[in-house]
Amino acid sequence: MNNNKTPAETAGQPHFTILIIGGGAAGMAAAIAACRSAKTSGTPCSIAILERNVRPGTKIRISGGGKCNVTHRGTPAELLEQGFLRRNEARFLRHALYSFSNSDLLALLSSRGVETEERPDGKVFPVSGDAVTVARAFEELLRESRVDQHYSCRVRRVERKGERFVVATADRAFTADCLILATGGVSWSKIGTSGDGLAIARALGHTITKPSAALAPLFTLKAPPASLSGLALRSITLVATAGGRNAERRGDLLFTHRGFSGPAALSLSRDVAELMGESGNCALFADLFPEQSIAELEAELLKQARKSGTQMIRKFLQGCPIAPHKGFFGAAPHGTIPTALVPFIMRHAGLENDVTWSGLAKEKRQSLLSVLKRFPLGSVRDVPLDHGEISAGGVSLAEVNPKTMCSRVVPNLFLCGEILDYAGEIGGFNLQAAFSTGWIAGENAARC
Ligand SMILES: Cc1cc2nc3c(=O)[nH]c(=O)nc-3n(C[C@H](O)[C@H](O)[C@H](O)COP(=O)(O)OP(=O)(O)OC[C@H]3O[C@@H](n4cnc5c(N)ncnc54)[C@H](O)[C@@H]3O)c2cc1C
Repeated sequence: MNNNKTPAETAGQPHFTILIIGGGAAGMAAAIAACRSAKTSGTPCSIAILERNVRPGTKIRISGGGKCNVTHRGTPAELLEQGFLRRNEARFLRHALYSFSNSDLLALLSSRGVETEERPDGKVFPVSGDAVTVARAFEELLRESRVDQHYSCRVRRVERKGERFVVATADRAFTADCLILATGGVSWSKIGTSGDGLAIARALGHTITKPSAALAPLFTLKAPPASLSGLALRSITLVATAGGRNAERRGDLLFTHRGFSGPAALSLSRDVAELMGESGNCALFADLFPEQSIAELEAELLKQARKSGTQMIRKFLQGCPIAPHKGFFGAAPHGTIPTALVPFIMRHAGLENDVTWSGLAKEKRQSLLSVLKRFPLGSVRDVPLDHGEISAGGVSLAEVNPKTMCSRVVPNLFLCGEILDYAGEIGGFNLQAAFSTGWIAGENAARC
């Protein structure tokens, strides 16, 4: 059943009740929710979506390495706590995540035949293992909702004229009573997200927090040695230090040919980008024993020295668990210190290759201790914004009503998804936030 009104024309320009710019997760959710809401209330409503790519959901298709980590397990409160580490951002997203939760999203996908499964780490993926199935489900829902869809349609300018929005592309214009800006962030600009929406929001009167990198790799001044490229350290704590300030994240770290990636580096990248912005440089360290304090680790080293005086330290390190819970003799759920790393630990600690526990002087033990707790990884050269899974920054949250996603600055303007100044962790939190904020933006736009 179609409840949509046929678009009217104003001075030759198609006119819609609701116009959505951006056909990503947030824009598609907004369109579907607006149609459903209008249908429920019986209000005639014409809705259109304008997308600069040839089809919608481009980022969904490449998400999660093509598998689409669509959301995360847990209650909305758990998602907010694990996925959004900055309090003000979690507070802003609270209503949206409760209103259109992960269960609502999974039920919607299931209604289109997309079943999902939870991984042990809480990430949720489609059973098909194919992100395209998620994008297609939303395309189908859009088609069913009979939303007017315009592809290869890049919006260049938006003006508010009287009670209406005039939305211009290079060669045509539309008018609308209500506008939903869902143009995403600014990373991966080659697939459509180059910050157009931020310029539009600024021109309409919104304050924009400068975009910066998030969930991005860390490039170092000096690349890690080739012998370490591809090496993973499991469950260490990555520490970034600049200008007397520290930020840290526990997780797996991957050495790359340009620096570092993996969950710990990606998660810390937003803080690193900020530290770089403030002091222009940032040093990285890995704590290989995050479960032990320096004093506890020293006690373990002394115990080992007493027990195995003739053991070479190099050999000991090769079998040593990373991040052990119960000293060196506990289980090694995170593997052992990689053999390739050991020569670097020895060198940084100033130890001879064949030194044994009994030959280890006190000051050398202290330097081994400090290298194990603070293994130097070099200085950061760049946190590349365009390589981030998301970007931080965007439209100031203070200027958007978190209950409706309606602008507090421009009447009948709604903003949703990554264009807003929040940034989630890896794990499905960003897509969920885009779907949730998009959904409530659509519902509320239909009530305007
Ligand atoms: C490689 C990669 C992997 C990712 N994996 C995951 C994952 O597994 N799980 C997860 O939760 N998150 C993941 N993310 C993040 C997630 O994809 C985004 O946070 C989410 O897609 C944001 O949704 P959005 O609708 O706000 O923006 P987008 O999905 O970016 O959509 C915005 C849309 O607006 C369009 N647009 C922009 N400007 C204009 C204009 N001027 N006119 C018309 N249209 C315009 C763009 O073309 C785009 O289609 C990943 C991101 C990347 C880059």
